[in-house]
Amino acid sequence: MTKTALVCGAGGFIGSHLVKRLKREGFWVRGVDLKFPEFAETEADDFVVADLRDNGNCKAVIDRRFDEVYQLAADMGGAGFIFTGENDADIMHNSATINLNIVDACHKRNVQRVFYSSSACIYPEHNQLDPDKPVTAEESAYPANPDSEYGWEKLFSERLFLAYARNHNMTCRVARYHNIFGPEGTWAGGREKAPAAMCRKVAEAQDGGEIEIWGDGKQTRSFLYIDECVEGTLRLMRSETFAGPVNIGSDEMVTINQLAELVMQAAGKQLALKHIPGPLGVRGRNSHNELIRSKLNWAPSASLADGIAKTYPWVASKVAERQAKSKKN
Ligand code: NAD
Repeated sequence: MTKTALVCGAGGFIGSHLVKRLKREGFWVRGVDLKFPEFAETEADDFVVADLRDNGNCKAVIDRRFDEVYQLAADMGGAGFIFTGENDADIMHNSATINLNIVDACHKRNVQRVFYSSSACIYPEHNQLDPDKPVTAEESAYPANPDSEYGWEKLFSERLFLAYARNHNMTCRVARYHNIFGPEGTWAGGREKAPAAMCRKVAEAQDGGEIEIWGDGKQTRSFLYIDECVEGTLRLMRSETFAGPVNIGSDEMVTINQLAELVMQAAGKQLALKHIPGPLGVRGRNSHNELIRSKLNWAPSASLADGIAKTYPWVASKVAERQAKSKKN
C-alpha cells in the first residue's frame, strides 16, 4: 500500500524540500501551510492552505491515520525577527498553539509516528558565550536558559511531544535543527537567515565595494545544507529505538566574517566588511554531533563551501530578477 505523509509547514523552506524528498520515495503527501511555497510549485499531492492555530483546521487536515506526520509549521525567522523582542508574543502564542493542536489531533486520529522540529535556540545562553567553545551537547539543555522566547517555546513543545509519546503510546521524534540553509529559502524581507542574507548582500554589491555585517563578525555559527537536514530528519523519524531530542546540524564552525569570505569566493568578488550594530543572538554556536553519530550511525558531513556553492547562484538569480523588475517599473 502507498504510504502517506502529512507535512505541516509545507509552504516553508524545509517543509517544501521535505515534500520533494517524500515524493521521490513514493509517498502520497499532503502539505498544509498559510501559504504555498514561494519559489517553486509544491510537489504535494494535496496542498491545503489553512491556519493551524485553528483547532478545527488541524482536525480537518489530519483526517486519516497518516504513516508519518512532520510538524514544521512555526512563526519564525532569522535573528532580525527572533531577537528584537518585538515579535515575542506572536512567536510564543502562534507556535505553541499550532503544536498543541497538531499533537492532539494526531493522538485523536491514532497517528503513530510524529516528528517535531525544535531548534539549537533551546540551549542555555551561558554555555554559548565563548565563540571558540560553545556547548551544545543535548543534555546541556537543562537547567534551561534559552536566549530568546523562540527558544523557550521550542523547549516547551519538545516536552509536549515527548509527553504525548509517553502518555498516549505514540512514537514522537524530536530534532534540534542548527541553521539550515540552501536554495529556495527566504533571502530578503527580514526573516532571512545569515547565509541567505550574506549571499544577497554579496550579490547586490559591486566588486570592490563593501557589505554590512551585524556585530564584529567574530561570533561563530555552523550551517547545515538543506539536503543533509532532510536526510537526518528521515533517519531520526524512522529510527525504531531513538526518539531524540538530537542535534541535526553541521559541526564545521565558522565566524560570520569567514562565512562572508566563503560567499565572496563563490561569487568571485572581493568586498570590504563594514561592521554595524544589529541583533546578534549568542556569541558562539556549533552542533555537537556525538549523540546522532552514536544513535543513528550517521552525521552530516558535507562542507559549508559546497553548500554555499549551490546556494549563492540561486540567491544571485533572485537578486537579478528583482533588479530587472525594479528597472522596468
Ligand atoms: P519557514 O518559516 O520557512 O517555514 C515555516 C512555515 O510555517 C512557513 O511556511 C509558515 O507560513 C508556516 N506557518 C506559520 N504559521 C502558520 C500557521 N498558523 N498555520 C499554518 N502554517 C503556518 O521555516 P523553516 O526554515 O522551513 O523551518 C521549519 C521548522 O524548523 C520550524 O519549526 C523552525 O522553527 C524549525 N527550525 C528551522 C531552522 C532553520 O535554520 N531553518 C533552525 C531551527 C529550527
